[in-house]
Amino acid sequence: MADNRHLFLQYLAQTSDDPYLLEIERAEGIYLYGPDGKAYVDLVSGVSVSNLGHGHPKILEAIRKQAGRYLHLHVYGELVQEPQVALAAALAEVLPETLSCTYFVNSGSEAVEGALKLARRHTGRQRTIAFRKAYHGSTLGALGLMGGEGYKNAFRPVPPGTSFLDFNDFGGLDEIDRSVAAVMMEPIQGEAGIVLPEKGFLEEIRRRCDTTGTLLVFDEVQTAFGRTGTMFAFEHWNVVPDVLVLAKALGGGMPLGAFIASPDIMKSLCSDPPLGHITTFGGHPVSCAAGLASLRALLGEGWIGQAAEKERLFREHLSHPSIREIRGMGLYLAVELGDADKAYRFLRLALSDGIVSDSFLFHETAFRVSPPLTITPQQILEVCKRLKGLLDRL
Ligand code: PMP
Repeated sequence: MADNRHLFLQYLAQTSDDPYLLEIERAEGIYLYGPDGKAYVDLVSGVSVSNLGHGHPKILEAIRKQAGRYLHLHVYGELVQEPQVALAAALAEVLPETLSCTYFVNSGSEAVEGALKLARRHTGRQRTIAFRKAYHGSTLGALGLMGGEGYKNAFRPVPPGTSFLDFNDFGGLDEIDRSVAAVMMEPIQGEAGIVLPEKGFLEEIRRRCDTTGTLLVFDEVQTAFGRTGTMFAFEHWNVVPDVLVLAKALGGGMPLGAFIASPDIMKSLCSDPPLGHITTFGGHPVSCAAGLASLRALLGEGWIGQAAEKERLFREHLSHPSIREIRGMGLYLAVELGDADKAYRFLRLALSDGIVSDSFLFHETAFRVSPPLTITPQQILEVCKRLKGLLDRL
């Protein structure tokens, strides 16, 4: 097997001077395998994509079947394509009644942008509220919602009109007034290092949005599909958004994003102007078929119900003097080491030992424990033992 690393550096656009540079030949379950057959435990799941592990047979079968029927046919929204219809209907079944109308796109960033356009068009307002340390994507519109100035400055101007609040700062919520089209937020902040909302925070935001006619948009790109122990994270607080943004695990490993709202809100994209949002590949039939197979497997195989117990196992078996705290819910966990240099050295050591984890965009002192939900209790115990052994070596 040829070593492709030098070709990767020569021909692929790089995103940093310090890539992992790990070549993967195949992947199965919770393991990634290098060309030499070395196994790597996946504690990232492609950042919440591979919730059912790698190579789930039902997803692969659905992809093969749909690829044999048809690939792309026409731009989104013109032809009736059964895989799109079936997935949208299945999503409506697992969502509250008000979230029954899905617009499919290709990615999380696109879904965020679509949701933002929808909120502006529906309310006729221009302002947005977002939160510091939030990540909503890398396209220019999503960049306008990015809660970290350092990632924006070199690319200005970003779309104006967004005010930033601190997550869990109740005092800032007065900013939500009748000029605000949307509050865009993650119910659990991911790239901030997995920060849970304090008691009453989401409820208070919901209340203010109701009072002011502002649309509440939840970005559940990382937290949906069982990752936190419920199908959607908002279920933990029983706060239902007006618009839900999904991507990552939605496509079962294939590229797919969506923004979901009530038919009444969504119909604003049909007129003044018509074709208010357009996409060529959004809701690709193969992605939708994979997404439906993934959703059915998630519902049918009991993974969501096991997430809380698996979290408990990690918390019980991952105690070490270097670990200050474990934050998160279900299999969406941040292990806090309290020191960026230590976390960096740990991640490199783990990689050479066959464990893939990562830090967080706005929080470099912790590492991720977000394996596929299919990880077994036995595998959790083994991983915890290995992680502790690595922490001993720091
Ligand atoms: N929102 C959140 C919360 C995300 O984590 C991400 C991606 N990490 C995005 C949006 C953007 O998704 P994509 O990379 O598919 O555009």
